Amino acid sequence: MSTSIARTPQKQIVILGGGFAGVYTAMYLEKIFRRHPDVEITLINNANYFVFQPMLPEVISGSIEIQHVINPIRRLCPRTNLHMREVQAIDLDRKVVTTSPGFRPTLQRIEYDHLVIGLGTVMNFSRMPGLQQHALQFKNIGDALHLRNHIIHVLEEADIEKDEDLRRSQLTFIVAGGGFSGVETAAELNDFVRAAARHYRHLDPNEVRVVLLHSGDRILPELSYDVGVFAYRLLQKRGVHIRFNTRLAGATAEGAILETGEKMPAKTLVATVPAGPHPLIAGLPCQKVQGRILVNDRFEVPDYPGVWALGDCAWIPDSCEGGSCPPTAQYAVREAKCVARNIAASMNGGELKRFRFSSIGMSAALGHRSAVAEILGVKIWGILAWFIWRTIYWAKLPGIERKLRVGVDWFLDLILPPDIVQIKTARSRTLNQEHFGPGEIVFREGDHGDRVYLIVKGEVDVVQESGGRPQILARLCAGECFGEMALLTDAPRNATIRAVGDVDVLSVYREDFQTLLMHLPGLRQIFNNLMTQRKRGAAD
Ligand SMILES: Cc1cc2nc3c(=O)[nH]c(=O)nc-3n(C[C@H](O)[C@H](O)[C@H](O)COP(=O)(O)OP(=O)(O)OC[C@H]3O[C@@H](n4cnc5c(N)ncnc54)[C@H](O)[C@@H]3O)c2cc1C
Repeated sequence: MSTSIARTPQKQIVILGGGFAGVYTAMYLEKIFRRHPDVEITLINNANYFVFQPMLPEVISGSIEIQHVINPIRRLCPRTNLHMREVQAIDLDRKVVTTSPGFRPTLQRIEYDHLVIGLGTVMNFSRMPGLQQHALQFKNIGDALHLRNHIIHVLEEADIEKDEDLRRSQLTFIVAGGGFSGVETAAELNDFVRAAARHYRHLDPNEVRVVLLHSGDRILPELSYDVGVFAYRLLQKRGVHIRFNTRLAGATAEGAILETGEKMPAKTLVATVPAGPHPLIAGLPCQKVQGRILVNDRFEVPDYPGVWALGDCAWIPDSCEGGSCPPTAQYAVREAKCVARNIAASMNGGELKRFRFSSIGMSAALGHRSAVAEILGVKIWGILAWFIWRTIYWAKLPGIERKLRVGVDWFLDLILPPDIVQIKTARSRTLNQEHFGPGEIVFREGDHGDRVYLIVKGEVDVVQESGGRPQILARLCAGECFGEMALLTDAPRNATIRAVGDVDVLSVYREDFQTLLMHLPGLRQIFNNLMTQRKRGAAD
């Protein structure tokens, strides 16, 4: 079942994605349409916050508190309707976006007049065996927290480990990717691990090995040759071992596997490459280049009037440098301004603006109060570059309150030792436990099938509407499962499940259930048999 938010006389602008592209578009649209109550702006993002990614590497070391690099979207865009949901489908022909179920398992359909696609990219580990299972990615706030916790965990283990080989692999940290995020991650990680190791009685910081793998022959290829060489020498001096012309090919529980077949034992592998196309975008009928939506220099998606795309997920012609605009925050923010203006112009019958932007400069933090930067062609490195890096990003961080918090974090980081507390966050999403009271509904007929259930305690009734009257088809008790039919047939729920008394259930989410079906021989057959049996029972 799905609920619909139909088009009203108001103009509906729907933005997908709450990163730099989506949030800044909403902010600019709010400014343009502040006196236009007839224009409704809706932003759909799977979190209710915006992540300031350039500062993310500093979360690893704890020099910035995790919640200070994020900003509540509601505060940044107070006039925008925020739907904290997963976008599940985009129908460009019908002009409808479908979002995931919330508490109630119903999909929501949102109609639009203008659609702005800013969904970014996803890590694509599919071509490298084992990366999905064993590599840590570094893109959002959860990744940063997970990586920090993981690093502390291996340090705790290494401190009490007697097996020398295992201990060596626990103290080896591999980062793959010598671009901006790989270099900054390796630098922060190196600083943090070496400083933290001093607080463990049986660890010597000299035992720590941080390795940066890079497929090219110099790191930070986006910057000039001598700036890259400076970064290389500095990281090398700080103990980061950089391996050039080295490609990661896969991973196992024991460590990284290189293209040459060489195995590098390690318990930590961070992969900052490769970002792949977003699966939703891969399924769109519009034209794409390298998995990104092809747009013209006004951000219009050809053949789909009213659809716009920007940011990392779009292939935007770069009229200054040729090729396409680079996938950076610096560009996404400028693109957002142009998209907002062009939407307004297209509503008012005005002329659309062509996007022209030439990068002001780039910088990369190298940890330990050091950075490299190239601003308006001037090359800067060392503490001056670090100071400029911090000033620029601090100024760009949205919201005065976040600026204050980050400023305080940086000050405390100068005088306090590293925080080595591991925040235990693990809460399995694979298996959920729920309790229902007498008469409560687990799900309703027509709902979206999002999981399969196993009764641990109590009983439930399977109820179906027949001629407008509810009819009890069956009563299920502890040890029996339900909800499998909608998942196996990809159809809405065909019955309502109602708790008879107090009921405890375990539930497995759709994706995990599909994984089990794929890998557990015979399981699909068992469920198919159960489904046939139940269908027969219902028909009798
Ligand atoms: C560690 C790191 C450091 C970086 N440092 C810099 C830097 O110093 N300077 C610079 O210019 N750039 C930097 N970048 C690059 C920059 O952050 C990106 O170019 C920028 O974030 C792109 O913005 P975007 O909005 O296009 O995509 P994203 O920021 O990826 O935003 C996409 C949004 O869409 C949401 N989303 C995706 N799928 C769905 C779905 N199905 N349903 C609902 N929501 C969904 C995501 O959760 C996300 O919020 C860095 C990137 C990283 C990872």
